[in-house]
Amino acid sequence: MELLGNNKGKISVTKKYILKINKNRCKGCQLCINVCPKKHLKMSVAFNKSGLHFIEEDQENECIGCKNCVIICPDTAIELYQEEEETK
Ligand code: SF4
Ligand code: SF4
Repeated sequence: MELLGNNKGKISVTKKYILKINKNRCKGCQLCINVCPKKHLKMSVAFNKSGLHFIEEDQENECIGCKNCVIICPDTAIELYQEEEETK
């Protein structure tokens, strides 16, 4: 959360990170799991179209938007988006 402004005109900005995982591009190599500092990624129980386990988000652990997973994935299976929400 980022504070913009003073006490009279205070606006707080909350950043939320959204991952889009293309499960059919994922080959389950786990590189992204190993570089995630927050343990936000885990292997699925289900299989993708190629019969492989893929990654899923672990909602118990927060994503901090560090992009490590996006950068390391050799198959460009992860996209990261950021949303900002203003609260007064
Ligand atoms: S962006 Fe960073 S914190 Fe979020 S899932 Fe990827 S590696 Fe983990
Ligand atoms: S690095 Fe890419 S291919 Fe490997 S498990 Fe993660 S999303 Fe799947």
